[in-house]
Parts: sequence; C-alpha cells; structure tokens
Amino acid sequence: MNTVRTVAEVRAALAEPRRAGRSIGLVPTMGALHEGHLSLIRRARSECAVVVMSLFVNPTQFNEAGDLAAYPRDEHRDAQLAAAAGVDYLFAPAPDDVYPPGFATTVAVAHLTEPLEGAHRGRAHFDGVTTVVTKLFNIVSPDVAYFGQKDAQQAIVVRRLVADLNMAVRIEICPTVREADGLALSSRNVLLSAADRTRAASLHRTLQAVQHAVARGERDPSAAKAPGLAELTAADIEPDYLELVAIETLAPVDRIDGDVLAVVAARVGPARLIDNEIIRVARPGGAAPGTELSENGRP
Ligand code: AMP
Repeated sequence: MNTVRTVAEVRAALAEPRRAGRSIGLVPTMGALHEGHLSLIRRARSECAVVVMSLFVNPTQFNEAGDLAAYPRDEHRDAQLAAAAGVDYLFAPAPDDVYPPGFATTVAVAHLTEPLEGAHRGRAHFDGVTTVVTKLFNIVSPDVAYFGQKDAQQAIVVRRLVADLNMAVRIEICPTVREADGLALSSRNVLLSAADRTRAASLHRTLQAVQHAVARGERDPSAAKAPGLAELTAADIEPDYLELVAIETLAPVDRIDGDVLAVVAARVGPARLIDNEIIRVARPGGAAPGTELSENGRP
C-alpha cells in the first residue's frame, strides 16, 4: 500500500491505472478504523481493480469543537488495517491541502439534509459532508464509492448529490456492521466508559422493539415507537430523535403502509451515537418494493 498526501500525488498515482481502464473504488473515511470500515474496503477490493481509501477528519462537518478535538486519530494503526484489508492507496491529506487559504465554495443539498441529523447538528454538518465528498470525487475520480448504511441519511444525501450534479460515480451502500450485542460499530464507541458501552446497546434494542411492534401489525408510528422509547428510558437515555421516516424523503410517516426507515440518535455519555434499520412492510394488496438502500431505496 502506498500512502499519498497531496492531490497531485493521488492524481499521478491513478493516471496509469485509469488509462489502462482499471476500475477505481474509493472508500471515504475519517480513520479510527473498525470492522465497519473494513467491510467497505473488502467490498471495494472484491469489485474494483484499484482501491483508494481516504483518511481525512473533515473539520467542516463537525458542529462541536470538542467533538472534533476528541475524535480518535491513529494513522499508523489505520494504515496497517487498511493495507491488510487490501487498500492500494491511502490518501491522507493535510487540512490545508483540502482547504487552502481562500477556499470559498460550499456544495449544499437541500431538503434531505434538513431533518434528523441536519436539524440536530445544523446545516453546516451536511454542507461539510457534501463539499468534502465532492472534492474527494473530483480528486480521485472513482468509478465506485462505498458508504455505510450506518450513516443512512449521509448515504441518501450523497446519492442525491451524485444524481443532481451528474457525477460519474456509482454509490454503493453497505450493511451496518454490529457488535455481538447489536451496537453499531462507530469510531466514537472508544469514547464510551464500560457503563456507557452497556447502555449504548439499547439503541439497537430500541430499533428492534419498533421493528417487532410493526411486525405484530402496529401501523401507527407513535404506537410503534412506544416500546422503543421505553427501551431508551430503561437505559436512562434521552434520544435526540427516534423517528419512522420515508426512505425516499426522510420525512416522518403518518402511517406505516410500506417500508420505512427507523432512525435513532442519542448522546450516551461523551459520545453522540446514531443507528437505523429498514423496517419492511408488505403493502396491502401487493408485494413491497425492494428497499435495500443499496438497490432501490434511492431518493
Ligand atoms: P466515518 O469514518 O465514520 O466517516 O465512516 C466512513 C464510512 O464508514 C461511512 O460511509 C460510514 O457510513 C461507514 N461506517 C461507519 N460505521 C459503520 C458500520 N458500523 N458498518 C458499516 N459501515 C460503517
């Protein structure tokens, strides 16, 4: 694996494989790699001739200075894990190379960025994400880019960005990798104390409780959410939100009459955690459309 630091270096490294028609896969990350990231890398490795992983803790998508400062960083460990998982090029730029003096452009996606994480972290969060993703796509020009369903709203927003701006990249959304107790792997999990780590597992139990309510036939979103909220209360967690939203629009649903996305966000000790599950519901009188985020759940 080669580590490249500058835009010029990454472009030079990819010029030859691109000329030769070899497919290029990009896995954007902020480092502190875990099995979730590695699952994206392995998927890219299995589908692309050249695998690029970016490692950049993007300051513009952090809405709290403390969160940015506390974000775990260990490039040496990340490089070893990335190499072992099959990355060819690790692109680890310095902030000044990504945002040189005079940088003045923001790429913003409307509507899908407004609810949920947009409402709780503020406009700047997704503007930071869509701007840096646009830059990474322009720098690397990948054929395919891999994102995790763990950050479902981000993945849906990136799909919208790519469609709206006619970017020549295919977006693949990969399933959430979880701990044995259901907790979604996240770089922020290392910030949790042992007690908070135990409480954090209730986020996934919350989604499952909602899922079970829907499976039992509940179609009213408030009633379906009630057992989920009870899980959170039992773990002494006050959620930022627990919502059932339409996969296409991310708007809360009035009634559950097709597949919906259950999303939860909460602060657990020092870490703000998010999770989601697609809840599948056969539409009355017909087969439910496939709503894998990776296939048909496109906005
Ligand atoms: P991050 O480094 O947190 O920005 O994440 C980089 C990519 O890894 C994003 O596309 C995330 O959605 C994805 N990712 C993070 N956690 C997981 C997980 N537990 N399972 C699958 N993908 C994940």
